[in-house]
Amino acid sequence: MKSVEQHVSDILATVSSPRPIELDLLRAHGSVLAEQVVAEVSLPPFDNSAMDGYAVRSADVAGASTGEPVLLPVVADIPAGDTFTSVIPAGMCARIMTGAPMPVGADSVVPVEWTDGGAATVAVRRPAAEGNAVRREGGDVRKGTEVLSAGVRIGPAEIAVLASVGRRSALVHPRPRVVVLGTGAELVEPGRRLGPGQIWDSNSFMLTAAAIEAGCEGYRHGFVGDDPATVLGAIEDVLVQADIVITSGGVSMGAYDVVKEVLLRMGTVRFDKVAVQPGMPQGHGTVGDSRTPIITLPGNPVSSYVSFHLFVLPALRKLSGLPEEPLPSVRARLLTPVASSPRGKRSYLRAVLDYDASGGDVAYTASVVTRQGSHQLSALAETNALVVVPEQETHLPEGSVVEVVKLPYR
Ligand code: AMP
Ligand code: MG
Repeated sequence: MKSVEQHVSDILATVSSPRPIELDLLRAHGSVLAEQVVAEVSLPPFDNSAMDGYAVRSADVAGASTGEPVLLPVVADIPAGDTFTSVIPAGMCARIMTGAPMPVGADSVVPVEWTDGGAATVAVRRPAAEGNAVRREGGDVRKGTEVLSAGVRIGPAEIAVLASVGRRSALVHPRPRVVVLGTGAELVEPGRRLGPGQIWDSNSFMLTAAAIEAGCEGYRHGFVGDDPATVLGAIEDVLVQADIVITSGGVSMGAYDVVKEVLLRMGTVRFDKVAVQPGMPQGHGTVGDSRTPIITLPGNPVSSYVSFHLFVLPALRKLSGLPEEPLPSVRARLLTPVASSPRGKRSYLRAVLDYDASGGDVAYTASVVTRQGSHQLSALAETNALVVVPEQETHLPEGSVVEVVKLPYR
């Protein structure tokens, strides 16, 4: 059997990040930056006021106090966006608003709260040191410096930074288009009535949602039955809109394991037993003329879910232009024993991870939930983590310290 790590690296070898494209700011949201962004002007671009108040010469107000306020004539009114360069002679001042350009001659801003708020003449009751409430040109970013590096995911903060340096678009790795296809003659669309022997399709919804949550464009193609021609036709159909295809079901050893049957024939997809539980039967490779990567997950819902995190997420990161990174994990103390785990396979048991504020050497506790069957999908919604039981362990006592994978967004 193949190790989890080997399977991940085999998958990554079939995947490459698509060519970067230039996207308008909001379209770029959620994708990964493919260029270094440098500020072409300093930010702020000019000295401006940090407060509503009066632009003064600090020397003129040095002696101001509540008992003996300094009276200054107000010779200009400078709103934000003012394009006129005011000049303030000695002994005078200008009313100024937050973000408005500092007038020539002034070196300080007296906040309106330190004055009587006068419009023609103002009484200043406190001194304001040189530079008080003045935002200096370049005080945020100096012209020519890097503000964003390639490889960051573009969220609201990055969009703000791009816009603030005047960028309307950015060169990004487009968000990968992930097409999900379920297989199984027993499947019925949720919302329809179940017949005998049927179940509702959940995998294709779950996998599509998981792909979207991972920052991709997820497309649910729905599901097809277990007929080879239909499965092949569906895979061919989705290729035009897919950067990667994810299927569920039909990859085990059964007589109707149709995904395996049709893709094996093509010769570009291989099927392996991976030393993992749940999720042993796995397939991966490429399909079609443009060699679109495909990952075929087992159909049991829990297997599909766990396999997605172990095998699909790394591929989606690479497709997205993100660097390789293991799933985030912590060490936790088991509050429940692990009664049995197959020797030679690594188990990922659904668990509840909690922060342990008691200050011990291990900062988390983990409780493995009951209902670990790979069909027992309802337990997934109660859990937020996967307890990792190493290949050589067959059971673990309560109190053992284990590695626990934190599931994203839970
Ligand atoms: P398979 O991998 O096709 O042998 O399926 C294994 C188990 O997973 C069977 O019990 C299937 O009914 C179930 N299964 C397969 N696909 C889905 C799906 N899309 N949604 C829910 N259960 C599924
Ligand atoms: Mg099936």
